[in-house]
Amino acid sequence: MALIDSFGRTIHYLRVSITDRCNLSCDYCRIDGNEKLPNNDKLLTLEEIGRLVKIFTELGIERIRLTGGEPLLRKNVLTLIKEIGSLPHLQELSLSTNALLLQSYAHDLKKAGVGRVNISLDTLNHNTFNTITRGGKLQKVLDGISTAVKAGLHPVKINMVVMKGINDNEIGDMVEFARTHGLILRFIETMPIGDAGKNVSDKYIAAEDILTMIKQSYGSELIPFHQKIGSGPARYYQIAGTKANIGVISARSRHFCDTCNRMRLTSTGQLVLCLGHEDRKDLRTSMREGATDEHLKEQIKEAVRLKPESHQFENNDIHSATHSMTALGG
Ligand code: SAM
Repeated sequence: MALIDSFGRTIHYLRVSITDRCNLSCDYCRIDGNEKLPNNDKLLTLEEIGRLVKIFTELGIERIRLTGGEPLLRKNVLTLIKEIGSLPHLQELSLSTNALLLQSYAHDLKKAGVGRVNISLDTLNHNTFNTITRGGKLQKVLDGISTAVKAGLHPVKINMVVMKGINDNEIGDMVEFARTHGLILRFIETMPIGDAGKNVSDKYIAAEDILTMIKQSYGSELIPFHQKIGSGPARYYQIAGTKANIGVISARSRHFCDTCNRMRLTSTGQLVLCLGHEDRKDLRTSMREGATDEHLKEQIKEAVRLKPESHQFENNDIHSATHSMTALGG
């Protein structure tokens, strides 16, 4: 069984946001940290998430990433992870996290079936971290990262959103940090998603410029690395003279929509086909109105057929998506 959209792309990857709540308030992701969250009755229960994920895997989804908000804030998250981790058709279960709670969770996550984690870390400077995240404590994240490595979550990938005048001076330090800790660092262009994302558009730096900055600040050539690392859209490079790999995710400057293999399920059960479009399928309502698994499968297949060809980030007239990253999970 495979989910194939009308442009011939096979969709085998699902991101599942299990909460909109977050214990950080990064300025490119959230407007002020006081946004209205969905009412509890709109949130999928853990049982509903488990049921939908099982249905998705029966349709051909092989990789699941749990995200949020901050997924580790969801009560009983380990129960859900164990359930998803034991699904027969699943090849990979991963998690996106800000690592604030990883110190206490990393070993249990590994035991419950999480293979690898992506951790957001934009700076190694305590003050800059505090400012970007509106109050976060960097040390907790650093402790979380080292616990994840010790727990055997592998690879640990670090996502750095690069912003002009905020953290672009730290590119070399971040490469060195990743290299010495055995982490895979990915540099991400800011994306104009939601009001917060649009607000940081003036801090956008294109991936090609980021690559030039890496060469300059780290003082080494970058060799394109063609071996597969994960199933995402990052382009990877090896830093000459080292075994370290870095990646860039150029969602704006060189989009990768023609190879898009993913969909997103929000914490309220909306199936989102593309980050840059509002179109969505309300699976929660169908499920609560008594839809059978077969009926839900038909709805998912129909939604996949409507997946847009590409986002339109650069076209402000078309790019009307207002959903926020906390709802979509990145
Ligand atoms: N709390 C988790 C975390 O910190 O990774 C998961 C949720 S977070 C929304 C997922 C990813 O979205 C993070 O790597 C974050 O950097 C990225 N993100 C959020 N807003 C963004 C934006 N406007 N542009 C680019 N990346 C963004």
